[in-house]
Amino acid sequence: MGETQVKTAHPKGLWVLFGTEMWERFNFYGMRALLTLFLVNSLLMKEEEASLIYGGFLGLCYLTPMLGGFVADRFLGNRNCILLGGLLMAIGQMLLFTSGSIFESNLDLAKIIMYSALGVIVFGNGFFKPNISSMVGSLYPKQEKTKLDSAFTIFYMGINIGAFLGQSICPLLGDVKDAGGIRDIHAFRWGFMAASVAMLLGTILFYFLKNKYVVTPEGRPLGGLPSKNVASDFEEGEAQKANFSSKSLVIAGIAFVALGFIFHYGVGQNLIYTLIYSSGISLAGLIISDTSLTKIERDRIIVIYIVSFFIIFFWAAFEQAGSSLTFIADNQTDRNFFGWLMPPSMVQIFNGLFVVLLAVPFSILWDTLRAKDKEPISPVKLAVGLVVISISFFMIATQVSYIGTSGLLLVKWLILLYFLNTCAELCLSPIGLSLVGKLSPKRFASLLYGVFFLSNASGYALGGTLGSILPATGDKFAKAKELGIDLQAVLDNKVVPTAEQLSLLEKHQISAHNHFFAGFEIHNLYEFFMVFVVLTGIAAIVLFALTPFLKKMMHGVR
Ligand code: GLN
Repeated sequence: MGETQVKTAHPKGLWVLFGTEMWERFNFYGMRALLTLFLVNSLLMKEEEASLIYGGFLGLCYLTPMLGGFVADRFLGNRNCILLGGLLMAIGQMLLFTSGSIFESNLDLAKIIMYSALGVIVFGNGFFKPNISSMVGSLYPKQEKTKLDSAFTIFYMGINIGAFLGQSICPLLGDVKDAGGIRDIHAFRWGFMAASVAMLLGTILFYFLKNKYVVTPEGRPLGGLPSKNVASDFEEGEAQKANFSSKSLVIAGIAFVALGFIFHYGVGQNLIYTLIYSSGISLAGLIISDTSLTKIERDRIIVIYIVSFFIIFFWAAFEQAGSSLTFIADNQTDRNFFGWLMPPSMVQIFNGLFVVLLAVPFSILWDTLRAKDKEPISPVKLAVGLVVISISFFMIATQVSYIGTSGLLLVKWLILLYFLNTCAELCLSPIGLSLVGKLSPKRFASLLYGVFFLSNASGYALGGTLGSILPATGDKFAKAKELGIDLQAVLDNKVVPTAEQLSLLEKHQISAHNHFFAGFEIHNLYEFFMVFVVLTGIAAIVLFALTPFLKKMMHGVR
């Protein structure tokens, strides 16, 4: 091997982690594509209920990594946690398969099994996700950390190749309609089965290849039991342990409970959303109270917090993919794609596809700008991501304003939305991850990643709440007309529906009233999408305005 090859090649272990994560994301995103449609069509839930479950589920998936990271660091090690998480997720998907097989004979039991399945997947994801990402970092010894950016770009492509495959194959098997457009409500389970098989494949791949390839350059196994790890990764003079006083632990505990009360009883959030928001804020408070922090470390951590706050709005908009955008793709979109009628849940694949196509160009773009000394600092890139997603929602808001309650949205507009959202994601998601790595003192790195993931979780929870205010789509108006009800007049309070009409609407999972957000009544799809334009737009402007201050607080980190 020539000298340049030695310098540029990535360790083989990266490809093992790439493959394992690819199958895991196949399982996760394949299921995500089908979940809300399954809840509505087979388990007979209303779309708003499905959106709330979806947001809570995704949120919890990003809360449990705290637990998975902690268990790995203290007890089981990364490898065992990855295997355990993989197996749990495969079992969870099989439970969804079971739910999708029995709902007709026993709807209540099917719902219980569905909730248990999501619970098992939440824990599986929590064990798997933080450990596989941190193993990518540990493959590279200190002197090779410069390769980390490109290692994470490759890894991010693995994530999205998996997402792309899962979002193609699971919908093809599970989201099936006949020529007359009538959905086969029994098909979803085959999508869940495929997700389970993919997860098992990933777990088996990792089990057999880890000892040979996921090793240090000297061949020492990585991510083994914590008792066998060698602690060599600290900067000289840096404190090696967090130093929480019992007083700050108690205060954090009290803050957690008090915030819980405020979010649950004051703001009216459900228990899961309350748990996500309160743990994020109290953990952030706990870390910043640590007595071993120097001024520079504390400033940098505050930057992580500020950035984490703003990206909540990004994920809340981005994650409409699996709920409101999928409902619109299902109910009010012409999905003719070059003569082929796409399954609605499959429209999401454009995100994975565009990441695979654009990840390398984006990293070349940053490299080129850096070479010219024009690379923006990370918070500016994040703000650009927020601007782009705001523009993308403005574009779709304008398009839906033309179609009214009976026209169809052309699928090309959803594809354009996913294109813009992907550009935004590439400005924000990998950049945010690496920024946290660069700004965190080592002893707090996993906890601060926990805070960062909790802000993703909060974004998903907010996304669930926002998805649940989706107004009626075209199919609801058509159905109501069939039932002899003028839905628009009912929603506008021009007609008071009879008790019989109300129960008919309820039976067909149609809301008889408009939803509200922050005191504003949402009358139509245009207003619904404008909520995202405004939220992400304001977040972008404020973040831009803060960048000179953030730059100072980062003390030389870019
Ligand atoms: N799409 C990426 C993944 O699945 C990022 C998601 C996130 O960070 N919230 O890993």
